[in-house]
Amino acid sequence: MNKIASTLNEASIPSPNGGIWRTSTIENILKNPAYTGQIVWEIRKGKKKDTYTFDHSHEALVDRFLLHLINTNLKLQKEYGRLETPFLFLNKLNCQQCHSTLETQNGSTKRNGKKYLYQDYVCKCCGYKLDMNEVHSSLFPQVLRHVKDMTASEQVKERSVHYLSAIEQVLEESISNCESDLDKLNRKGCIAREQNDREFEFLVMDEQKQVFRLKNSYEHSQDVLADLHEAIQSEMFFTRFDHLLESQLDNAEMRLIILYFVDEVQVAPQRPARIIFQENPLDHLVSSPNG
Ligand SMILES: [Zn+2]
Repeated sequence: MNKIASTLNEASIPSPNGGIWRTSTIENILKNPAYTGQIVWEIRKGKKKDTYTFDHSHEALVDRFLLHLINTNLKLQKEYGRLETPFLFLNKLNCQQCHSTLETQNGSTKRNGKKYLYQDYVCKCCGYKLDMNEVHSSLFPQVLRHVKDMTASEQVKERSVHYLSAIEQVLEESISNCESDLDKLNRKGCIAREQNDREFEFLVMDEQKQVFRLKNSYEHSQDVLADLHEAIQSEMFFTRFDHLLESQLDNAEMRLIILYFVDEVQVAPQRPARIIFQENPLDHLVSSPNG
């Protein structure tokens, strides 16, 4: 979070109150989706498009991309639980015996005046525990190795661009379908008015509204994709992780990396854990930013 704050400051992007970004500001934003939505809106509205294309074009992309990342991070937290937890693999460990997700257990006991801390991942159904620290020290280095390999490969960039293009195409088709639906509905609306059929007219209007909303959401996704495309071309996405890996990672950063790159970890008693990696970590960024 420190890094997000300093990146925003370096890019001279003003904080919500116009000053510099602090770690606490970012923390508040990460915890409050409504707040983030508002900022996205303000920034897009506040800076005119021609200002972007002149001297600020790069910063504009950086800030839109960062905000999109922040939004995606929020969505991941909604799905898998908070970043600020000692349990890095929270909601990512699945029991191979009963197929339930392992829960976490925090406990401590006092023996001879000394306090002992127990932190375990637990399958309540099968009744076994995995020591948290042991799980982390055996799995996290594997995750890091995978991410490093990924960010180093030119192939990944190519594949990502390919992937985005495919989605862009689907979006384009969906938008043109919406347009032809709107045409049809328009004609139906005319007929309804000619025949003075009020009920039918309202039905048509209602459907028009829905199709229009759908079309808008597709167009919004198109904008997001265009930004992503550019971010990947300029190597912003993967180099971000690269930079992250070169520095000392804090717990939240380690967890974020896991949320992006690890699909699930399959565990069972007396057997080594198996990490299933996300086939395309961009999946998270591509799916709807607010949903
Ligand atoms: Zn189980």
